[in-house]
Amino acid sequence: MIYLDNAATTFMFEKAVDIYKKYACQSFFNPSAGYREAIDIARQLQDARLRLLEKMSATRGNIIFTSGATESNNLAIMGSKRNGKWEYIFSVGEHPSVYNTAKELEAQGHKVYFVGLDSKGHVDYAQLASLLSDKTRLVSVMHVSNETGAENDIQKIVAFVKDKAKNALIHVDGVQAFCKIPVNIDALGVDFYTISAHKFHGPKGVGALYVKNPATIKNIVFGGGQENGLRSGTENVAGIMAMDFVLSQIDVKKNYEYVSLLRDQFVAVLAQNCNVDVLQCESPYILSVGFMGVNGETLMRALQDYGIIVGMGSACSAKKAGNRILENIGYGKDEIKSRIRISFNEFLSVEEVAKAAQTILEVYKEIWEKVK
Ligand code: PMP
Repeated sequence: MIYLDNAATTFMFEKAVDIYKKYACQSFFNPSAGYREAIDIARQLQDARLRLLEKMSATRGNIIFTSGATESNNLAIMGSKRNGKWEYIFSVGEHPSVYNTAKELEAQGHKVYFVGLDSKGHVDYAQLASLLSDKTRLVSVMHVSNETGAENDIQKIVAFVKDKAKNALIHVDGVQAFCKIPVNIDALGVDFYTISAHKFHGPKGVGALYVKNPATIKNIVFGGGQENGLRSGTENVAGIMAMDFVLSQIDVKKNYEYVSLLRDQFVAVLAQNCNVDVLQCESPYILSVGFMGVNGETLMRALQDYGIIVGMGSACSAKKAGNRILENIGYGKDEIKSRIRISFNEFLSVEEVAKAAQTILEVYKEIWEKVK
């Protein structure tokens, strides 16, 4: 099988499974308990927290371990909302875990703005800047789009916010960026940053929210007060320690260079057919590709029979009609239907990617012959 849907999820490192097992079966103690074994686990969790901060290049702030990016995004948004005449700004390109939380804020009576996208899926910086004011409470813009691979210029957004919205907090959903492109939290200057382990070979159901200043956020679940009071519930120790192990194994720069090479090679093959529209953005890990005259879902199903797995965009929205993000970018209904999402990982070989690209072109041609 050649798996090209790594933006949806990645395989877990086998050694991380061993670590998971160790903390699930032997070192299984509740870190909140008072005996020596449990205190030792609490210390190990703290060490993992510090290593994650270091991996993010964050010299201040804290890590709140969560059940993944959906929870981290909910915590950042719902935890930072305040009563009064505050305003909230989101990009229309956000993942449903941000977008639908923003919709809920709106339904609760808060003033919410959605900023449009450019032709590749970057946030419209000018529109965003025009909405900023002293009333802005939160700006939430993703780092890399899970749909197109477009990388937003977070430093630029932070500079706008500092200039025009001195009370505003900045949240970034970094799910498709962290461990794939270099991320330096200090340099970005954001208040909150979301990550999810299963996107970089860790277990599902574990992630984190970076929080620069805990005074800016309140808990959204109530309980025993774990994670600095911001995320009650017994910590997923096995998941966190498995994620911690995976982080130690990832060489972001080396992988980035290699995946760029894979992407370039893939794009070069697809470019042989002028009816194939490749939307290439900054992240080499994600491509949105259109196949004129053919339904993307039909192509995806046909490719399965050749052992090639491709995506249909965000798994969470794949089952829904339409695609808010591609629509906003400016694609028509038929163009959207004709698109698939290709997303790479650093373990694919050059040969596999070449074979996949060739097969995709052949299968496209076969379907095209039947439907034209
Ligand atoms: N944000 C983005 C950009 C994503 O791609 C995803 C996963 N599709 C999520 C959030 C949700 O992540 P999780 O599965 O950890 O809740």
